[in-house]
Amino acid sequence: MTVVPRIDLDRKVPDLPGLRLQGVSHSFGTIRALADVSLAVVPGELVCLLGPSGCGKSTLLRVAAGLEPLQKGSVVLDGCAVAEPGYAVPPERRGVGLVFQDYALFPHLDVADNVAFGLAGMDAGARAARVREALESVGMLDSLHAWPHTLSGGQQQRVALARALAPRPRVVLMDEPFSGLDARLRESIRDDTLHVLKRSGAATLMVTHDPEEAMFMADRIAVMREGSIEQDDVPLRVYGEPATAFVARFFGQLNEIATRIAGGSAPTPFGPVSAPGFADGAGVRVLIRPEGLRLRADPDAACPAKVLAARLLGRSSWIHLCLGQAAGEGADDHSHFHARVPGRFLPAEGDVLGVELDPAQVFVFPADTPI
Ligand code: ATP
Repeated sequence: MTVVPRIDLDRKVPDLPGLRLQGVSHSFGTIRALADVSLAVVPGELVCLLGPSGCGKSTLLRVAAGLEPLQKGSVVLDGCAVAEPGYAVPPERRGVGLVFQDYALFPHLDVADNVAFGLAGMDAGARAARVREALESVGMLDSLHAWPHTLSGGQQQRVALARALAPRPRVVLMDEPFSGLDARLRESIRDDTLHVLKRSGAATLMVTHDPEEAMFMADRIAVMREGSIEQDDVPLRVYGEPATAFVARFFGQLNEIATRIAGGSAPTPFGPVSAPGFADGAGVRVLIRPEGLRLRADPDAACPAKVLAARLLGRSSWIHLCLGQAAGEGADDHSHFHARVPGRFLPAEGDVLGVELDPAQVFVFPADTPI
């Protein structure tokens, strides 16, 4: 176990920079919100906590911020413990910048005073300069003396980010910061926010329930389920090598086939899928991403499928397929599948296409694995 000092800026431990949560558990009465969660975010890194509603994301963020009293475990900032059972540094002394979904700007203060709020210890000149610098970094310098109610949601969120970053925090914590914005605004604000945070060098922990947003923002994604972290890894591996069926499923609709291992592989209507580590006869769940079904105009292919419907979704097309009775030997569920094809691909209803699997988009898990 690593022993860390309590907060004392003269006694920083240089090999523990950024934010560390160690063995954090938290309950609300009989509800277990967090179960022994450990997570680290290093300076300059952005980690997304991703998971469905109620899995404990906000509770973990609030414990890190000091807004929720710590029950078990510890919170360590730059090598100094700021929370252990029986010891807590108050939120305002943790040097943490907070950004929430509802912006939370003070309505009775103009933009400049909102951003200056956390800079109490500075002399007036340095404070004014820091306010301008923070607002400039989010493209809001022109609104220095505007009142919050005269700003759009996106502008208010930029000011909230400037306010969080103005004191140059070591750690930034953000809870669903873009979910109050409409889809187009969300894309541009999160793009800007990513660059501002990267320039700041802060260790950032951000909560989201949107997998695409996590992929867009994160250097690392920690997928949570029922108070625990199910997988903590770079986005490429969380998406491409999901540790559990739950993680795979969280990134979008999947084709699912229940089958049994035979000869070291999982038989499917599309052919056998490699399944190392499973015993012959074991029940498994084969999960195939819709983009893992490759379609070709070849009715004589080994695996033909009939088109039930095809829809253009914008950047991709969504094809409903039926394999028919004969094609599914060895599998329990083989009637209706979905394929996603990049761009515009709209075969006619009733067309017969050849289907092949992209092995990189196919995952095999035990049949009893929770989803
Ligand atoms: P959401 O995305 O909906 O905000 P979440 O993943 O952030 O969900 P939390 O808000 O951390 O989840 O909640 C985790 C669990 O703790 C849930 O079962 C929730 O109902 C419960 N919970 C959270 N805050 C409280 C509270 N103040 N009192 C009682 N139960 C709470």
